[in-house]
Amino acid sequence: MGTVANYTGGFILESIRKASRLFDSTEGSLADNEKGIRLRNNINEFEPLIVSFNQAAEYIRHAKTIAIGERVCRTLHPGSVFTESIFLNELAESLVKVGHARFATIEQAEETLQKSAAHPIIISKVSGEYMEICASYPPECLYWRAEKRGLHCLNPKK
Ligand code: SF4
Repeated sequence: MGTVANYTGGFILESIRKASRLFDSTEGSLADNEKGIRLRNNINEFEPLIVSFNQAAEYIRHAKTIAIGERVCRTLHPGSVFTESIFLNELAESLVKVGHARFATIEQAEETLQKSAAHPIIISKVSGEYMEICASYPPECLYWRAEKRGLHCLNPKK
């Protein structure tokens, strides 16, 4: 499972980098590929869900702490479209501490998501709790790339 420590220690970025390498060095479906299956299992530990703006806002309104910061994977693609993620609770506190995010109000977090309205919103579990809300950028998003290569991982929140 992805943990808060993985996000502050850079492990998460290394995992995304490795997955991107797998996508870039292969073609076609990875559904029966050993590395692909391992990757899908790792991804599924985040239990990513596609959420509407209102569903994302519910998580934001119920959070004890909120922070905003650049979407995690953009570090690997600095020239790509800029979008920011919303981090909640322990993840928010930890990312602010290491300088990767800034504290925010409910209104600021909602405004940030609204700015990226064209981007599908994904919420991921970190340390067993939904704490990362990302206005994803499908061409570079690990989840969307996995889906395209036959590794099903994204489900809409009911
Ligand atoms: S775009 Fe996808 S891989 Fe990148 S931070 Fe957002 S959810 Fe994670």
